[in-house]
Order: sequence, then structure tokens, then C-alpha cells
Amino acid sequence: MKDNPKSAKTTRRPKAIRPVCTQNDGSSNYSTETHLIYGKAFTEKWDYSHHLVPPITASATFRLESAQRGAQGFVDFAHTVEGKEISKQAPIYIYDRLGEPNKDLLEDNLALAERGGTCVTFSSGMGAISAAIGNLVVPGDQVLAHKIMYGCTYELFTLWYPRYQIDVKFADLVNPVNLKKAITPATRVVYFETPVNPTLDLIDISAIADIVREENRKRKKANQIKIIVDNTFATPFCQRPIEYGADFVVHSLTKNIGGFGTDVGGAVIGPLSSRDMLLLYRKDYGAVLGTKNAWDALVYGLPTLATRLRSQQETASRVAMFLASHPKMERVNYPGLESWRQHPLAKKQMRDFDGNFAPGSMIYFVVKGNSPDKSRCRAERLINNLAKDAYTITLAVSLGNIRTLVEHPGSMTHAAIPATEQIKKGIDPGGMRLSIGLEKVDDIIRDLKEALDRI
Ligand SMILES: *Cc1c(COP(=O)(O)O)cnc(C)c1O
Repeated sequence: MKDNPKSAKTTRRPKAIRPVCTQNDGSSNYSTETHLIYGKAFTEKWDYSHHLVPPITASATFRLESAQRGAQGFVDFAHTVEGKEISKQAPIYIYDRLGEPNKDLLEDNLALAERGGTCVTFSSGMGAISAAIGNLVVPGDQVLAHKIMYGCTYELFTLWYPRYQIDVKFADLVNPVNLKKAITPATRVVYFETPVNPTLDLIDISAIADIVREENRKRKKANQIKIIVDNTFATPFCQRPIEYGADFVVHSLTKNIGGFGTDVGGAVIGPLSSRDMLLLYRKDYGAVLGTKNAWDALVYGLPTLATRLRSQQETASRVAMFLASHPKMERVNYPGLESWRQHPLAKKQMRDFDGNFAPGSMIYFVVKGNSPDKSRCRAERLINNLAKDAYTITLAVSLGNIRTLVEHPGSMTHAAIPATEQIKKGIDPGGMRLSIGLEKVDDIIRDLKEALDRI
């Protein structure tokens, strides 16, 4: 066999590597962490058996070779048969928006990491959230959401959904009993983040799933309620909501899955039965992940996720302890702090791939002040001190970066929630969000200490 591309399919592959075939429930001889480096090793999605790293594709459209092959490609698209794509062969790629190798390979690995049946990627976290919900609701339906969430998701719910007659109700899901009271016959989706952005409150996923399961028993199949969890803060390294009964997980790949802050992206992970509609949604609404962005997450982001998170959360634990013992702190929310009221729940549901406690890299803290205004002023001073003088802490929105980032949710990421609502919902005027990076812990603490000394 010479270098004839037509014979690529029959190229003999090394036997030793072939048995590495992973199930999405994570069962295989190798750990999830290792799988996120190699993926399926060999895949029908693309033949790159001579590359160590999958090549990056830059082809918006694909050669179809014959009318029959072209027609077959359109038959196969969004036609998932349980266990296999319909053609049982290498997929027929048609056009980037329908699917291409870089996204497909990334999707395989994300589905594996989250223990889902399938994954479809989108151009951003917001693209993924819109698709996950847009797929499940029609006018007249209701989305029931936790009262606090990322500002743009809140605006999607309060600015846009009312225009399409999709009702959104908010409830405090930190106490799952409130969900029971809030469900109506119109409810189709229960939506929340855990840990919640920015307060790091935790929501008990299995307690929510128990209530929804009980309610669903009384309902016809078409009216079943689905649970969507935004797992961006935890990442699949720290928590896999599907294992606790969630139906769908959404991600902003822009954050800790991407990890380096170079690319915007999003993903929905869910049951295989949802794949076709998600693919059609992406095809027709068009929020398609760029190939370069997919490649970065595939080649740099996911393979380093576990290593980055382990280091970040060790640092976060020490930073949280430093802040919690600082006289100018009102309170510090970090799932790893033993003194924190939700620590037991954190220990129950935040676990890494090997079952170790994994409290993550995000910290929320509130500086003291005798009044909301005072507290807000001090937070502002602290942020300005850090922005001006800290070497290891950058004032910037976004999170899950190799660099430590700080921001003021009240005036930045959560500004879409009106100030009076923020206080009612529990976002403190003096609250700040810290995303821990890979710097040495003593350097971060030194910068924080110096900035705190001057407020
Ligand atoms: C950033 C973020 C999003 C939105 O993701 P983008 O990639 O910026 O669209 C959604 N949810 C959470 C929790 C986030 O932090």
C-alpha cells in the first residue's frame, strides 16, 4: 500500500492500541484522565493514524465524490441510530455547520468526561444554553430556574423568553423543597448552576432529581420535566451532574475546559436520544463552534484539565483559608472550607474522576462594611488596588484561566440583574469573585494581603 489516499480506510493500524475503546460511562481499562489525552485513539471520525496530534481542519465544505455519496450524507445527518451512525462507516462530512472532525473528536471526549450519551458543541456557552433549552420548550411552557445565575443567562430568561411566550419562574433551589412548591403543569425545564455563579451556593442535584422524577411519574412522556445543569464552575473534573440524575449538562468551554482563555466555545451533553435535535438546532440557528476553537479544547484544554484543576483547587483551598481568617472579611464561600455551611453537600457531590473530594477553583468573598454602600466602596477599593499593583491577580471577567482573575459581579458579570434585585437574591454589594490560576499560592496570598492592607 502506497500513499494513496483512497486506500486510507484500509491502512493497517497497530494492534496494540486498538483495544483502547471507551464506553461513555467511563468503563475501560484506563482512567478518564488518560482518555482525555488520547480520546478513542482511533476513530471512524477521521483517519489521522500517522499524526500524534489530530490535524486542525480548515475546510468549510467537503468533497462528496458522487451524487450517491452526497445524498447518503444528507440521509445520515442528524439520523442517529442507537449505538451507531446509520452508515456504520466513517461519517460523510458535508459542511462545517453540520459537523467536521475537530468538533466531532472533542464532542466524543466531552461526552465521556461528563458520562453523557452524546455531546454537541456550540460557538459559546450562551449558544449551548440557548440550544439546550430551545430544544425542550415551546410557547406556553415554563422554565423554572434557580434565582441567581450568570448574568447573560438571566437576561436570556428575562429579556428574550417573554417575547416568545416562554415563562420563566425563579425559586431558591438551595432548599429543594422550594422546587416542589414551584412546579406547575407548564414546567418543562428545571435550570440551575452548581456551584452558582457568583455566590458559589450549592444545589443538591440528586435531591432535585428525586423531586423531578416523582413529578414525572404523573406525566405523559411529552410533558416530562428535564433538568439542565450548567457545570461551568465545577467542570467535569470536579462534578458530573448526569451521575446524580441531571438530563443535560451545559458548559462554557471558554472557561476551565478551554483553560487558557484563548477561545470562546460551548457544549451541551445529554442523552443520545437528544443528539439529532441538537444537531438540527445548531445547523439551523447556526451557533457553530469554530474548528480552531474545537481543536484548542481537544488538544490543550481537556488533556490538561485534571492537572490544572488539581493544582488550582489546592491553591484555592489555601487562599480561601487565608481570606476566611482575615479581619476585613465578612464571609468567604468556598466548597472546600470546612467551616462553610454547605461543606457536607460539597463533599457529597463534588468528586473528581477517582472519587477524591474536588472543591474546585472558584472563591466568592464579601468584605466587611457597616452598610451595603460601605461594603461596596471597600470592594471597589480592593479591586482597584489589585488592578493597579498585583502581579498575580488580574481584574477581568471570565474564569477558569491559568491566570488568577478577580471581578465584582454586582457591577460586571451580573449587572443584568437590577441592583435592588441583587440584594434580594443574595448577591452582596461588597461581594467579589476570585478564579484561581496556576501561580504559586504564596504569590497570590501576598498580592491579596497587600491589597487588603490598604482598604
Ligand atoms: C461564562 C459563563 C457562561 C457563558 O459562556 P460564554 O462562553 O461566555 O458564552 C454561562 N454560564 C456560566 C456559569 C458562565 O460562567
